[in-house]
Amino acid sequence: MRKTSSEFAIEVRNLKKSYPSKGDGVKIAVAGIDLQVRTGEIFALLGPNGAGKTTTVEILEGYRNRDSGDVAVLGCDPQELGRQSSEWRNRIGIVLQSTKDAADLTVSEVIFHFAKYYANARDPKEVIEDVGLTEKAGARIETLSGGQRRRLDVALGIIGRPEILFLDEPTTGFDPEARRAFWELIRKLKGEGTTILLTTHYLDEAEALADRLAVITDGKIIEVSTPENLGGRNSAKAKVSWLANGVRKEVSTDNPTAEVIKLQQEFGSEIPELTVTRPTLEEIYLEMIGAK
Ligand code: ATP
Repeated sequence: MRKTSSEFAIEVRNLKKSYPSKGDGVKIAVAGIDLQVRTGEIFALLGPNGAGKTTTVEILEGYRNRDSGDVAVLGCDPQELGRQSSEWRNRIGIVLQSTKDAADLTVSEVIFHFAKYYANARDPKEVIEDVGLTEKAGARIETLSGGQRRRLDVALGIIGRPEILFLDEPTTGFDPEARRAFWELIRKLKGEGTTILLTTHYLDEAEALADRLAVITDGKIIEVSTPENLGGRNSAKAKVSWLANGVRKEVSTDNPTAEVIKLQQEFGSEIPELTVTRPTLEEIYLEMIGAK
């Protein structure tokens, strides 16, 4: 059962944050962001290195103070929590970009230990299994590989059965199989009603998981959309490609069906090595952020 009943788990208006930089200057990390994350959705923040994603997420988590703007996470301002703070903190789960942990404890010890902090914690054994660390349950943390440590971070993020889970580049260092398993876990959490805010550099991850996503560059959101519609992807031209006398041909078209019918008439039967493709999320994204 979820306590959250409001439409939005996260609401942000005109969020701004600068850091002091060399000399007297300032570095504007977040330059006026508006964001609404619906309760129960998976929302991804995409953007190049230094775009302001982590700063935004850390402000939402209550780890960083903002300069200005309005922020509500589960109806509370993370910066103004005061006495409510431990109750609120128990309702959110955090997977930071890197965690410093007790290197000489075992995976199992750490997870069981953290479970005790929460009234409604998940079963630690189940969590260890969910993140694929069963075989490493008795291993000391300092002996884990990078990807295994990251899985431990994820385990600690979900052990308290959070209503919102913040995931900052959660699958960095995961092998492909571990990433797929992680995606399954995230879908399971969504199925339980968890709201998930995720930053990632993997466009396939955003496509596989996100209901909606925002692209951030230079501290500003340039578009909020679904993976299918981002940057006009749904109405982008399709590429029809085939082989004619051993030479690859390609046309860009709004009407690939008509093109294929024309080719079929031309060839009479099978169109050699026919493919019809729309731009990938990655192609659209790279175009949006101006990297060709
Ligand atoms: P990445 O994809 O590399 O994780 P990001 O989008 O999460 O990047 P942020 O970490 O939010 O970006 O950084 C935004 C900008 O703020 C960058 O220019 C960064 O150098 C700067 N910045 C971040 N943290 C600090 C800090 N503690 N002190 C000074 N500048 C900082």
